[in-house]
Amino acid sequence: MASSQARHWRTAAQALAMVRRRQQVTRTELADMVGLRSGPTSDLVKRLVQAELISERSAEQAGPGRPTTTLHASPTGPVALVLDIRHGDWRLGASDLDGSVTIHEVGGHDGIAPDQLLDMLAQRLRRLAAGYGDRVVGAGITVPGLAVDGRLSMPMLGWQDIETTPLTSALDRPMVLGNDATMAAVAEARMHPAELNSLLHIVVEVGVGGALIADGRPTPSAHGLHGEFGHLPFGDPALRCPCGAKGCWTAAFDLAEVARRTGVDATADPRSWLQKLYSHPDDSDAIRHAMTSLAADLGRGIAGLINALDPALVTLGGLADLVRFASVGAFYDALNGGLMSAHRARPPQIVQAIAGDDATLVGMGLSVFDHVLDAELLARWASRGAGVA
Ligand SMILES: [Zn+2]
Repeated sequence: MASSQARHWRTAAQALAMVRRRQQVTRTELADMVGLRSGPTSDLVKRLVQAELISERSAEQAGPGRPTTTLHASPTGPVALVLDIRHGDWRLGASDLDGSVTIHEVGGHDGIAPDQLLDMLAQRLRRLAAGYGDRVVGAGITVPGLAVDGRLSMPMLGWQDIETTPLTSALDRPMVLGNDATMAAVAEARMHPAELNSLLHIVVEVGVGGALIADGRPTPSAHGLHGEFGHLPFGDPALRCPCGAKGCWTAAFDLAEVARRTGVDATADPRSWLQKLYSHPDDSDAIRHAMTSLAADLGRGIAGLINALDPALVTLGGLADLVRFASVGAFYDALNGGLMSAHRARPPQIVQAIAGDDATLVGMGLSVFDHVLDAELLARWASRGAGVA
């Protein structure tokens, strides 16, 4: 009996992984993905609904056949708390196990006192966790920088090796730290057809970054530092990057520096400066040159990544698509010039990212569940008082 229960929860964990990997997965798709016939699939779905893990909605009928349902997180199911620390602000919310995020609080910061900021965010996290009670199964924090062995570096803010324990020990639940671009890539991957199982996501914000997602997850790495594409030596070899390396690609996307070269001081908010420029183009030589060289730098770097990684699809997040379209000729000249012939003959599609502004929070929510949700957690969840068969 015990082992058959364990098997049931293992299958349930597998099914819930599918609910995370695909949006609005139908009962029929679930049956295919976990390799069950319709009877056992019905039993599985019934068990998940009874355990307050999922809820069902009628699916739009795509063609002939029996009506099916789409599977969603239960409104009373487990949640992962998600915190997104950005350059000038932070957002705190909760993610259901299907990646639906509710943002509860937002705030600004000047980045000057990281320890105080992390203490304050730990308090906010505890307060939010108290509101959700035993529904909280874990938490995740995304940062625009590196999180290694519990220490945080955000070069753009001048943060080096900041101890994250006050934040990561705020809850007696597992806590995951992750890079914002990687988490956005996780959210983006589930917006595209499953057969495009290798997705390269590139983000331009105040720098460039990205991640390669294979079958819905970031590619594995020894220290969790995958996807630091901005630090490939595609840039000026004489320039030292705040990361410690020379020649980093991301230096070309230091937007405050780009603005300075056009005679503008945009140090306070370089991202808005660029965005405004793209919506109201200025035809001066300096601006045109800046736009052309950003587009060429982006195209050349993406060519290198396509050569190295051979993705099925490339998605452009943040300002990356604006950079491409502001100087489309320069982008494609650089891209095609850098591609190996084998890729030039059939390059992957390069499209604008569609996961939206909350992509980092969604990706982090999904990643927390990837980290904690297994047969053991499900058995524990189901025995916490809900009526489970
Ligand atoms: Zn670097």
